[in-house]
Parts: sequence; structure tokens; C-alpha cells
Amino acid sequence: MTAFSRCIACGLCDRGEASRIAASGGAYRGVMPLMLAASRSMPDFRAAAYSFSFVPLEVLREKEGVCPTRVPMVAISQFVRDKAAEVGGPLPLPPRVSSLRPLPDPDTASVGSAG
Ligand code: SF4
Repeated sequence: MTAFSRCIACGLCDRGEASRIAASGGAYRGVMPLMLAASRSMPDFRAAAYSFSFVPLEVLREKEGVCPTRVPMVAISQFVRDKAAEVGGPLPLPPRVSSLRPLPDPDTASVGSAG
């Protein structure tokens, strides 16, 4: 769990995220905010899991390779998704952005089935 607290807020992992951020309608604000949240308390796992649903695990794997402190992004994402699944899964999608939700990723397909 200490590895979850390595983020130094350099911003490298937010490169290339503009289109996913825009498509989320405000629910996803980039990888860095999620990694920073993992280093603090993250009581709302459902909201965090919903935000994570906008960035595929393969993208997080690639970003782990450029992270200077080797934040385990995939493990953090999985931890959040697992915790959210225990309490009902990611938050329901607000109607105003329902048409923008990305298609399920094969690596994360089980996340959406819980809600
Ligand atoms: S690349 Fe790593 S250290 Fe930099 S903001 Fe992202 S998670 Fe944090």
C-alpha cells in the first residue's frame, strides 16, 4: 500500500488525456488526480471507480512506464474497482453524459456488471 503514495504530481501521466477528460463530462479529470487521491484517503470508491472507467488499463500500463516514481497505476485502479464493487460498483452515469461513456474495455468488463 505504500506504493500507492508515490505520486509526486509531475503531471506526465496526464499527457494525452484531453479527449478522455472532455468525453467524461467532468467525471474524469485525468490520471494524476486519481493517483494523488490514492495517496490520501479515498472514501468514495464508487465515484473514483467511475472516473477510472474512462481510462483503459492498457493506457495505465503504458503510463506506469513513464512515471518517474513508478506509481502502480493498474494496481491502484484495480484496488479502487474492487472496493467499489463491494458497495455496488461505479456510480451510475449521469444522464447528460450517458451517450459519451466509453465502451467497456475487455480488461475491465466486470466493473460495469456490478451496477
Ligand atoms: S507520472 Fe507518476 S508521479 Fe507523475 S503525476 Fe503521474 S502518477 Fe504522479
